[in-house]
Amino acid sequence: MSEAERARVLVEALPYFRRYHGKTVVVKYGGAAMVQEDLKQQVMADIVLMHIVGIRPVLVHGGGPEVSEAMKKIGKEPLFVRGLRVTDEETVRIAEMVLAGTTNKGIVSLIHQHGGRAVGLSGKDGNLLVARKMEVEGADLGFVGEVIQVNTHLVETLLHGGYVPVISSIAVGSRGETFNSNADHVAGQLAAALRAEKLLLLTDVRGILADVQDANSLLSHLSLSQARELVETGAVDRGMIPKVEACLMAVEGGVPGAHILDGRAPHSLLTELFTDQGVGTMVTRAGDSHSG
Ligand code: ADP
Ligand code: MG
Repeated sequence: MSEAERARVLVEALPYFRRYHGKTVVVKYGGAAMVQEDLKQQVMADIVLMHIVGIRPVLVHGGGPEVSEAMKKIGKEPLFVRGLRVTDEETVRIAEMVLAGTTNKGIVSLIHQHGGRAVGLSGKDGNLLVARKMEVEGADLGFVGEVIQVNTHLVETLLHGGYVPVISSIAVGSRGETFNSNADHVAGQLAAALRAEKLLLLTDVRGILADVQDANSLLSHLSLSQARELVETGAVDRGMIPKVEACLMAVEGGVPGAHILDGRAPHSLLTELFTDQGVGTMVTRAGDSHSG
């Protein structure tokens, strides 16, 4: 790239810097971007850059593979229903140790290595995520929590103080019990509660595919009703269900745009935020006009 081209890239990003200045963007971090070393570094650099140009990033992370690994070590076989982990008492303890412990603190220190400032929280801190047992027809998911209340005060305090909040999806029940909530759902609910400008969900596919078998069937823009229909007809299944539901929760809750992005693509967060390129799947209320 020539020097002139480099300068042009920065100048083109300027209107986007201006547009998102002071706005909250919730990022759900997961999939390959959480496992592959080069992608991990890129995501952290993207988050730090967002923060430096005046965005208020909030990072929500999963950690499914790490929880599954810890379960297998003690001879437990992970089991999923509609993309949600069946969570008995032992599993919820493991999930809290892994997600609120090593995974969360690992992300916090990566952000620091990239020159940012971050604080790790679970849903128990500041009573951030209050949940009750999630009821699902025909299955007992155990300690899977449905978040019924989001107390954003602590997150707002951290953002105000110049910290990137890094949040694990461990929630607390009304009697202090521990719940394992789905990180996609948590990201969607947090985005709504924080009145975020955007919800960005990183995953291992290009976005929502009309046909899972066909990588070229990407749906680049959906309205709320189109997104709902995909879940109802079963065109979307497994781990994509909570992601689409998260987009619905966010947009129904007033977030202008929710995006499912390919975390395997380099710097997909920056491409989505700071260029004209529409990447992944965008869900908006009406679904018609392209708004970046
Ligand atoms: P993450 O770790 O990012 O949460 P998941 O594995 O939980 O990822 O969810 C993404 C997966 O959802 C995809 O890898 C794909 O197998 C599955 N999926 C199901 N239906 C669809 C669809 N219509 N379009 C894209 N992916 C789908
Ligand atoms: Mg998932």
